[in-house]
Amino acid sequence: MVQFFLERDRIADFVSHLMNRKPVYAPHAKGQKSFAFEKVDNAADVVLDYPRTMQSVKKFFLPPREQLLSFNLTDNSFQDADPQPVDAIFFGVHSYDLAAVHRLDYNFSEGNPERNYLTRRQGALFVGVSYSPDKYHFSGSVGIDPFDTAGFDVFLTKLLDGYVLEAITTEGEGLLSGFDLPPHEAGKPARGHFQQHIYLPQAKLSTVMEHSYKNEVWDETKEKCVGCGTCNLVCPTCYCFNVEDSVDITVTEGSRSRHWDGCMLRGFSEVAGGEVFRESLAARQRHRIFRKFKYISESTGEAWCIGCGRCTAYCTADISIVNIVNRLVADFEKATVSNL
Ligand code: SF4
Ligand code: SF4
Repeated sequence: MVQFFLERDRIADFVSHLMNRKPVYAPHAKGQKSFAFEKVDNAADVVLDYPRTMQSVKKFFLPPREQLLSFNLTDNSFQDADPQPVDAIFFGVHSYDLAAVHRLDYNFSEGNPERNYLTRRQGALFVGVSYSPDKYHFSGSVGIDPFDTAGFDVFLTKLLDGYVLEAITTEGEGLLSGFDLPPHEAGKPARGHFQQHIYLPQAKLSTVMEHSYKNEVWDETKEKCVGCGTCNLVCPTCYCFNVEDSVDITVTEGSRSRHWDGCMLRGFSEVAGGEVFRESLAARQRHRIFRKFKYISESTGEAWCIGCGRCTAYCTADISIVNIVNRLVADFEKATVSNL
């Protein structure tokens, strides 16, 4: 693929060029330290150098709350919601967040394909950007490199004075056409190092998880965890939701909606009759970790955690997912050695 050079001060021009093709969603600064993917109104507001957004691009395909249908109790009729393709360019996406989208594609396609998510996914194009790992990222431990271009249409690799820009797909080539760019001639990206590592690859973690059901770390973590569910709600690969019906005051009309839910929240495992089958925060934490490294991973071979570090960065109680997994690894290795 031909590589071009995009000077730092031409980023806004390039975003404006893309805005003439489709709506563009990109990271924007929020307050002092936070970033969020939003629709671009002013290309100059786009921030390409950011550690992570609080929410990933998942929110555009699986909105935090959406109406599924409306119904009429008088004539027993209902009307399905009519989700539309997002059909936009997602600009400045990190490799782990696109990997998360691909995992959600799997979740919503396997078994009974889920119409709303899959409809919204249509037409989405992705322009990726490399990043320097901060103290929370560990995507390298789950096989996702900051410079990984897989699945992107266009990729920007950060240099000191600008970006190497290359089209990865024919759709990506189409996005570059009409924007005048010089070829990239010299300069290598500075490769930052991950400060966080999970000590074993996923292929071996499955065995570790298998032997970790009764590990003490679950009870120890319970002492700090407040069950706020933040770790679920910021996670780009969490996709659990609750479905609720509501009826208006005349008891003739109503709607069915779904909203994000999370396994760390008490109500998530509450069933009819008021029984809560994961009352203990230790059991909820184990379930969260097993959802990321055991249950789906046993059939796909991939971690369902993409190493973004959000759950640790935003945890109310400073609980680190990497520390939990590495503790399980260390205890498993200790037990294996002592059994020799
Ligand atoms: S964000 Fe932290 S404190 Fe809140 S439920 Fe998750 S692990 Fe517990
Ligand atoms: S479990 Fe944590 S680190 Fe892994 S994908 Fe979810 S938020 Fe990111």
